[in-house]
Amino acid sequence: MGPDKALLYIVATPIGNLADMVPRAVEVLQSADLVAAEDTRHSQRLFSHFNIETPLAAYHDHSDDQRTEWLLGQLEGGKTVALISDAGTPLISDPGYRLVRVARERGIQVVPIPGACAFVAALSAAGLPSDRFTFEGFLPAKSQAREKALQKLAGEERTMVFYEAPHRVADTISAMAEIFGAEREAVIAREISKAFETIHLAPLAELSTWVREDPNQQRGEIVLLVRGAEPQKTSELDPESLRVMQLLMGELPPKRAAAIAAEITGVNKKALYNWSLEQK
Ligand code: SAM
Repeated sequence: MGPDKALLYIVATPIGNLADMVPRAVEVLQSADLVAAEDTRHSQRLFSHFNIETPLAAYHDHSDDQRTEWLLGQLEGGKTVALISDAGTPLISDPGYRLVRVARERGIQVVPIPGACAFVAALSAAGLPSDRFTFEGFLPAKSQAREKALQKLAGEERTMVFYEAPHRVADTISAMAEIFGAEREAVIAREISKAFETIHLAPLAELSTWVREDPNQQRGEIVLLVRGAEPQKTSELDPESLRVMQLLMGELPPKRAAAIAAEITGVNKKALYNWSLEQK
């Protein structure tokens, strides 16, 4: 390719079905001088399938500053580098942020090659509101921290999207049913674009039983999506949350007070803000 200017490509690769690889991604990987990959052995399979012979270099979450510097050195020396991860779009619950950040700070052009991304595919087929959503990535692995994270999201009104490991999925859905309520709708999107693709929508309690009773639903790669909370009416706010809000309003502007009170109580920020307006 021989660019005059340093160029870092961020290349999406398939999340299952290799036929989802976009032609531009193949061209870029074939013509780059170097491909930085999360797991070079894993990527070798993709390379063989598409006849890509470009040298691979490891770049993962545990790569140190020295590794990042080495890659930046390659770029600054005029080489074209492409970054890929094991599957999907790099930087989406995958390594690459530090490299992209420093590359941009040093004036290196960063070019995305769009393609597969598990949460976008899941959201597109889930049947939950997709106009506004929040991508939460992986929840904490330990149950206590996970419950705390879910409690913080109890008032979230946008559709929430999570990645989850198969051995934790049953417990996570149970915790969601407990915290978000049995009737809240959710979707499990499993093995997207692969042989056992399953996309199933049900209220959380029902989904929890369905997943627990069928070990097959606890296998493979999983995206969980949960419908956002119904907007809370100010008349439904509990006295303790209102007390916290009242105290904060004495020190802070209403918007800021509502944001902090929501963090503390898990109550919806908008409902707290609306309540503050009613107090005037
Ligand atoms: N960078 C990837 C992307 O663009 O989606 C995500 C990488 S993250 C380390 C891996 C997680 O993504 C899996 O544990 C699973 O939650 C989700 N995932 C990846 N491929 C999937 C698939 N084919 N079906 C469902 N979920 C998938």
